[in-house]
Amino acid sequence: MPSVFIKTYGCQMNERDSEAVAAQLVAKGYTLAPSEAVADVILLNTCSVRDFAEKKAVGKMQNIAADVRKNRPDVVLGFLGCMAQSRGQELIDKLPDVDLVLGTQKFHHAADYLDEILAGRRDKIVDVAAEQGSEATIREHLLYGKVAKNGDGHKPPPPVTAFVSIMQGCNQRCTFCIVPDTRGEERSRGIADIVAECRQLVSRGVKEITLLGQIVTSYGKRDGVAVGVTPAVEPGVTPGGSTPGSSKRLEISHIVPGGKMPPSTAGGTPAATSPFVQLLDAVHEIEGLERIRFTAPHPKGYGDDLIEAYARLHKLVESAHLPVQSGSDRVLKLMHRGYTRERFLGIVKKLRRAKPDISITTDIIVGFPGETEDDFEQTLSLAREVEFDNAYIFKYSPRRDTPAAGMPDQVPLKIREERNHRLLETINEIGKRKYEAFIGRRTQILVEGPSKKNPARMTGRTRCNKIVVFEGSDRHRGQLLDVKITRAGSFTLYGDPAIVNL
Ligand code: SF4
Repeated sequence: MPSVFIKTYGCQMNERDSEAVAAQLVAKGYTLAPSEAVADVILLNTCSVRDFAEKKAVGKMQNIAADVRKNRPDVVLGFLGCMAQSRGQELIDKLPDVDLVLGTQKFHHAADYLDEILAGRRDKIVDVAAEQGSEATIREHLLYGKVAKNGDGHKPPPPVTAFVSIMQGCNQRCTFCIVPDTRGEERSRGIADIVAECRQLVSRGVKEITLLGQIVTSYGKRDGVAVGVTPAVEPGVTPGGSTPGSSKRLEISHIVPGGKMPPSTAGGTPAATSPFVQLLDAVHEIEGLERIRFTAPHPKGYGDDLIEAYARLHKLVESAHLPVQSGSDRVLKLMHRGYTRERFLGIVKKLRRAKPDISITTDIIVGFPGETEDDFEQTLSLAREVEFDNAYIFKYSPRRDTPAAGMPDQVPLKIREERNHRLLETINEIGKRKYEAFIGRRTQILVEGPSKKNPARMTGRTRCNKIVVFEGSDRHRGQLLDVKITRAGSFTLYGDPAIVNL
């Protein structure tokens, strides 16, 4: 059977989609190639968020094409994901060596299309059409024991953490963002389906699940997801992943179509509970699952019900990513973000009241069109006031077909770079203080595996999403371990196991 190599650009959603395509191909008998040099099929899963990411993927494909076409003319080349979606046929017109262009709602057709190309039944395939129900197709994605080797002859160990896709698309239409075009309208999977997938993952050793989507806090709001049903029970897997015979069926019946709020319920889940919080409640019921995270949320989705869920659900970790983008109300309005600085600060205050140890990270764009020095100063002051644990800072880069690209008063690159530098200094200074405050503390980590930088050491993650490197061994993988923090580096902590559960 042919071998496939998938290179992924961009966000966790893309990582998750690549895993799903890989699992789909392996199930069809393909093997995973350790590198593009020996693969029969080379796929690039692309990102469109920044111009740079697109250029990188196109450049990579040009290099691959020049190389493989010389010596291995039968290799199949394909683009998947966001850039494939937004450019479609244009990619093949520009790069005639490319055989397949597959949009973001079409990943589940990858194996069939590759079969057709490899069998010579079709020459080129471009499929970027919208497909109803595609949000439910990205399901099986972990390879479990199906991969014979990962390049060094060893089977990869079972994963401790997993991402579960709960929705696709976004309707927010922030003026700088191309995602609503590349990922389409918001479409949510049903709670029963998501819970069943989570149970299955937990039964196979997963301890931490990250619920994933472009705007997870809008989960179920548009389409009134089919949640008034009892989740299906996987054969041999009881709800909660516990032993057969102790099964407890989870009834979820109080979400109404369109995500409108039901009247107050006595006890249990509080009134005015959004579909997303109801999903959190349902996932929280799964026995054996230790931690729940989610990404990416939108600040305006942090209603009181979600903040209250942080206080109520102990598996929901002390970590919130709140993409603020700017500290200036004027710029937030130009960005079409749907909240003000004051509302954002109010959410932070309430979250810290609910979970005093919560870590708060953010995304910030500097140099958005029209951003003045005064607007930027407001972003700096907001960063100081909130004291973010970390921030992903982006220099604004215009994306074609977005409203912001055509806005007046585009900020010159030199100013964008200078603001980027100043903000980065502020974030690093706050981050250093926050990380150093951990020294001497005992904290719980979930051990994920060997450190990427130094495989002789192990890494784990605190509940507040900080990476901890420590001297350990493979037997610690998957354990919840107490470590004492001895040192803080640049956005990394170093620890000693204080209690080791052998
Ligand atoms: S909410 Fe996020 S994904 Fe949606 S348009 Fe805004 S930035 Fe893009």
